[in-house]
Amino acid sequence: MESQAKQQDTVTRSSLALLLDISRELAASLDLRTVLARVLLLSTVNVGAERGSLIVLNDRGQPVEAALAINGQVFHPTVEEMQSILERGLAGWVAQHRQPALIADTREDERWTRRPDDAAERTGSKSAVCVPLFSSGQLTGVLTLVHAQTGFFTSDHLTLLQGIADLAGIAVRNAHLYRSVQEAQRRYHELFEDSIDPILITDWEGRILEANRQAQVVTACPLETLLECSMHQLQSPQTPPLSQYFQALQEGQTVHYETELQRQGSSALPVEVYIRRVMIGESPMLQWILRDISERKQLDTLRDDLSAMIYHDLRSPLANIISSLDILQTLLPQEAAQTIQPVFDIAVRAAERLQRLISSLLDINRLEAGQPIINKRPVAPHALVAEAVDATHTLAESKRQQLSVALEDDLPVISVDVDMIRRVLINLIENAIKYTPMQGAIEVGSRREGEMIRFWVRDNGPGIPQDALELIFEKFNRLQGERYPKGLGLGLAFCRLAVRAHGGKIWVESALGEGSNFIFILPLR
Ligand code: ADP
Repeated sequence: MESQAKQQDTVTRSSLALLLDISRELAASLDLRTVLARVLLLSTVNVGAERGSLIVLNDRGQPVEAALAINGQVFHPTVEEMQSILERGLAGWVAQHRQPALIADTREDERWTRRPDDAAERTGSKSAVCVPLFSSGQLTGVLTLVHAQTGFFTSDHLTLLQGIADLAGIAVRNAHLYRSVQEAQRRYHELFEDSIDPILITDWEGRILEANRQAQVVTACPLETLLECSMHQLQSPQTPPLSQYFQALQEGQTVHYETELQRQGSSALPVEVYIRRVMIGESPMLQWILRDISERKQLDTLRDDLSAMIYHDLRSPLANIISSLDILQTLLPQEAAQTIQPVFDIAVRAAERLQRLISSLLDINRLEAGQPIINKRPVAPHALVAEAVDATHTLAESKRQQLSVALEDDLPVISVDVDMIRRVLINLIENAIKYTPMQGAIEVGSRREGEMIRFWVRDNGPGIPQDALELIFEKFNRLQGERYPKGLGLGLAFCRLAVRAHGGKIWVESALGEGSNFIFILPLR
């Protein structure tokens, strides 16, 4: 009796010593493989097991790392091997049921599935003990020990192993998290280094602390030189000081502007700069992404050149054609006028349409750049509507459409760029004619609305779907389908820019299949 108590005492003391050893070992490393190998070896050696395995599971219960101990040697199986152990062995049962298992004779327990490679075939019978590892209630792994002898493991072994599992659960989880953090860090570093945009990290004074490969390529500066510079030196002197953006950056906003990058030994590079606050460790830093916009700038210049070309090289000859046609008409002999007049009208109208299109294209550029309307003069809304109808009625007649006018009497004059607003009206009427089928009806009208003058162009054409009512005013936005013949998608964009530049508003009211009513209002003063 006394010797049994003594033996029990020895077991308890050696168990405590083992647990102490294990907790020391666990604290010594954060490397997942090292932690696994130590826990497994200490457990197998101290319990006297022949073999053992320790599998680490992620949040979804999938194996991410494992160690196998066979005769004092540790191996790390592949993911497929781990998967197979989990699917076909006792460890899988324990992981699934989240409870320990003690098997006295593996031949008589169905939780033990024999695999073709199982040493049981060679050694005959054996026993096993297997426990789940938890950390804050979450399953983080499974520890299994095997012995060649049946009935080798006792409930004391199970209690001891459970103690080891309790200690190891947290350590394994920490090592796993540490590995995940390291991997995330490596991925971030790769993304940072391999980014096609230059990325730099600075302090709040703009002093460069880190720069990726592309930053070194684009600035033509080696890393050592960059680390001695500040962003202030890299950007053109006209760039606003960083302090101007402090508040926005502190509030977590991304600051964004265009500037030029000064480069050693080559010309300045136009870039778009995005600055954002990032936490590096415990300290708030600034991340700068510089995007090369030289191609876009070249295209802008090309577009400006093209606009200038259109302005000078197309507009003036077109004006010449129109005035020559005018003169030619007056020179026609009376008897020929009747037969030739319709041909003349076609030529004049076509030339005028071309002229309107060119003017609107140029206006889009100018208005987008924020240029104000300068040549305003007073005009009666009646006159504007009459001129617009005059320019479009032949087109409506060619589709046998009815083009009517609804004007309120005594409308006050408005002060506008007459040519521009006339083109807005013509655009809307031409659209109505284009999109309304043959024999449709179009009404152009104007009336006073408080301190505004309201204009409208209403048709009984195909109408516009609700979700496109706003979108059609965007540049190049067109509705698809047979009901909508081809166009550039610039007309309504021009109308909106022109009306807004006059302090007005434009919109459309429409229902599919019921026609459209394009409305714009302009302030009287
Ligand atoms: P475009 O007529 O060259 O395509 P717009 O900017 O003038 O360009 O018009 C944009 C789109 O709005 C048109 O493609 C058409 O789908 C739709 N739209 C414009 N006016 C009407 C209308 N009166 N009825 C139906 N759809 C219209």
